[in-house]
Amino acid sequence: MSDVLTVAEHRQGELRPVSHELVTAGRELADASGGDLHVAVISGDVDAYAEAVNRAGVDAIHTVDHGEEFNHDVYSQAVEQLYAELDPQYLVMPHTVNGLDYAPAVATSLDLPLATDVIDFSHNGSLSVTRETYGGKVEADIEIEGDNAAVTLRPTEWEQATEAGDAAVEAFDAAIDEDAVGSTVTGFEEVAGGDVDISEADFIVSIGRGIEEEENLDMVWDLADALGATLASSRPIVDNGWLPQNRQVGQSGKVVTPDVYIAIGISGAVQHLAGMSGADTIVAINEDPDAPIFDVADYGIVGDLFEVVPELTELFE
Ligand SMILES: Cc1cc2nc3c(=O)[nH]c(=O)nc-3n(C[C@H](O)[C@H](O)[C@H](O)COP(=O)(O)OP(=O)(O)OC[C@H]3O[C@@H](n4cnc5c(N)ncnc54)[C@H](O)[C@@H]3O)c2cc1C
Repeated sequence: MSDVLTVAEHRQGELRPVSHELVTAGRELADASGGDLHVAVISGDVDAYAEAVNRAGVDAIHTVDHGEEFNHDVYSQAVEQLYAELDPQYLVMPHTVNGLDYAPAVATSLDLPLATDVIDFSHNGSLSVTRETYGGKVEADIEIEGDNAAVTLRPTEWEQATEAGDAAVEAFDAAIDEDAVGSTVTGFEEVAGGDVDISEADFIVSIGRGIEEEENLDMVWDLADALGATLASSRPIVDNGWLPQNRQVGQSGKVVTPDVYIAIGISGAVQHLAGMSGADTIVAINEDPDAPIFDVADYGIVGDLFEVVPELTELFE
């Protein structure tokens, strides 16, 4: 009854990092509520995904071998049936495009309260979750009424579980009602201008309004090339049409988790931080020593980017 059920996510044959973050968060919640952690793996190469998500802290993995890619109706039915079978206290799903596709349907069907885009939680007999409001300017703690709840967790807010585990893997024979499968996945397409997926990049050089003019971008491309890094940006650069939308980092852009993130001429507004504060090492270059980006930076260079960037490029070339 006090168990936790999390749902793993995969895309195009790859288990997504959020699945390992859900293991960390799910374990935390299961410890606090005094239960076991179950993980559901649905569709695709379930055995390979089950092996990948078999990390320390997981008590049991349930595979539903049905279909190749994500399908709303298959996920909804499979999660509902697993929930009915396992009777966990909490259902934890990723706050992703896929997670948001089925989480509300499942919560409605199971009559569970649903808290979305959760960035933190505490459990003292009952569950309290933290969400951002007013465009990330305010954090609100919300007490969940009742014993059971469904939540979706924002990616990159929890560490990925990395240690190997030895949970039992069991095939779950979900009775998928094919007549109720009304949607079909016909293909996968990145959003417009999808020349690169910055959310997969290990090394990012990111540019902000400090660059002033579009033609000055060449200088930053040179640095990114010298470092073998991917170029990304804050929103004004995209709003100006200087880089495509898929390169925007932040609340209304992409969430990135590189090993290194170099923020150049970026002030560090909350909406930008929402997309990059999960980077392992943050380097900021800004002429304003009081810029908020320095509050999250591991290393900072206070200086004029038009001097610092060419020097760095020369150094790395
Ligand atoms: C609903 C909503 C969603 C949003 N989503 C996003 C989002 O997804 N991503 C995002 O980035 N923003 C987003 N924003 C916008 C956000 O609030 C900020 O306006 C934006 O992040 C600012 O971008 P910036 O840091 O590049 O520019 P600025 O805030 O103008 O900062 C420019 C920085 O460059 C520095 N600088 C200037 N010249 C130089 C120089 N020569 N050398 C060194 N430093 C220099 C300045 O000191 C300053 O700190 C959103 C806003 C809203 C309301």
